[in-house]
Amino acid sequence: MKFAFFNTIIDLIWPPISLLSDNRVKINGTIEIEKWQNLTFNYGPKCHCCGVKLNDAPNPETICGQCLAEPPFFDSARAPLSYDDNSKQLILQLKHAGRRDGVKTFATMMRDCAINPELVDVIIPVPIHKKRLFDRGFNQSVWLGQELAKILNKDFDAFILKRTKNTPSQNGLSQIGRKNNVKSAFFVQKPVTGKSILLIDDVFTTGATINACSKALKRAGAKRIDVLTLMRVNSHTNSNEADMTIGIINE
Ligand SMILES: [Zn+2]
Repeated sequence: MKFAFFNTIIDLIWPPISLLSDNRVKINGTIEIEKWQNLTFNYGPKCHCCGVKLNDAPNPETICGQCLAEPPFFDSARAPLSYDDNSKQLILQLKHAGRRDGVKTFATMMRDCAINPELVDVIIPVPIHKKRLFDRGFNQSVWLGQELAKILNKDFDAFILKRTKNTPSQNGLSQIGRKNNVKSAFFVQKPVTGKSILLIDDVFTTGATINACSKALKRAGAKRIDVLTLMRVNSHTNSNEADMTIGIINE
């Protein structure tokens, strides 16, 4: 009762604002219905492995051409939202403005598309280099991972995986360039042998960073790696465009 009263006072002083506009909303960390309807969710046929949208998936095990040609080190990747003009503001606000009021909503959406979350031993965020952490002051993947750990009642550990190279931004790099950029950039500094890991990031662009993290974890003995991001780019040709807009796909 006390909390409800204080929340009412807080809402009067700082009214909840939509995550996608300057409009007021009733509940903190939400989006008005008109904007919500413009978001594209990753329902429908998708690659069983990387989660990219497919025109058709004859069965639930269907794999996309890219995963077939070069199987990633992670076992699955899923994201509730498609990255596009209608959704990118969510990432900009989270990543550049450090706006935290959407984190609970985002984590709930991510939870809803997780594969076998009950089997997860530990949740790990994609780390950023300590210099970048110092400059920015936060890692949005840590926020998402912590919230997911609360929702799923799982362990969270931001110190298992360390970013040892302060790699330049992935902006404008080709897929091969991205791979080289993050090559050997991650170090596993705690035992993960036999563990099922849920790896968290904000956006899945080409998957180069997430795959580099997964490679390090698998080589250190991790049994299984499932990836959850808030958004994914659904066309490889759109990856560079996404970078330009997001500004820093640095992970
Ligand atoms: Zn795939």
